[in-house]
Amino acid sequence: MTSAGRFAPSPSGELHVGNLRTAILAWLFARSTGRKFLLRVEDLDRARAGAETEQLRDLAAIGVTWDGGVVRQTARGPLYEEAIARLEQSGLTYECFCTRREIQEAASAPHAPQGAYPGTCRNLGRAELEFKRSIRPSALRLRAGVAEFTVQDVLHGEFTGVVDDFVLRRNDGVTAYNLAVVVDDAEQGIDQVVRGDDLLPSTPRQAYLASLLNMPIPEYAHVPLVVNHDGARLAKRDGAVTLRDLAKAGIPVEEVRSRLLASVALPGGSLEQALAAFDPRRLPREPWVWTFKAASTP
Ligand code: GLU
Repeated sequence: MTSAGRFAPSPSGELHVGNLRTAILAWLFARSTGRKFLLRVEDLDRARAGAETEQLRDLAAIGVTWDGGVVRQTARGPLYEEAIARLEQSGLTYECFCTRREIQEAASAPHAPQGAYPGTCRNLGRAELEFKRSIRPSALRLRAGVAEFTVQDVLHGEFTGVVDDFVLRRNDGVTAYNLAVVVDDAEQGIDQVVRGDDLLPSTPRQAYLASLLNMPIPEYAHVPLVVNHDGARLAKRDGAVTLRDLAKAGIPVEEVRSRLLASVALPGGSLEQALAAFDPRRLPREPWVWTFKAASTP
């Protein structure tokens, strides 16, 4: 099987400099280790018409290249259902009828692990199950056999995090991200996952699920996010943060690329040039504060 890294954007809008920086890092990690680099559009949720085209255009403009065609999650339903069926056959799933509010109320009970589903629907009796089925559609949850799981991360070292009975299929029938990402990475031969460190807390759930499905656990590298002046994750409202906005403000894509490369202690120029100097051990471990500097007027 091929060895590959990937970038997996959600097509909810244009990429901002934080997304582009993560994409560049994922590309550098993959290419510096002789891996292929794949692009997967995570369009199960939050897809906006036209966003994928804009994202691919901007990735290409910044110099990120990928191998083969783009994979879209909405075309992969049968693969996800096949994995769910395997879990079901092993008795590792159950139906859940809880609303968001019910979960919040139950999860705020004393001693409940932070952010974990409290297991309300784990052991419903037959009559209760039939009754609940008659009033609401169910989500499908994993019947987890552990409360936590440990992963190795290139930048964070050993990381242990909560594993709860997380959702595999939502009650509207849409495959949950945690299931899709595990199935896709394994099926695409992705053995290196480089992404924003906001996803580190979900990683023990994903690695545990991979182990249940007898799928290999990839190498993880969770890279620091780009933040605004207040230390909050960068967002569209933070001003000129997309290539289009920056170009309008007089900052060409080459300049954006140089700033992004400088933020990870790499020389400006092409990504191929940066590759020669790339060393994951020298990556900054702190979030990077995006400061908009206007282009100097001639
Ligand atoms: N689609 C996710 C996002 O854009 C990334 C998921 C991943 O890299 O595993 O936040």
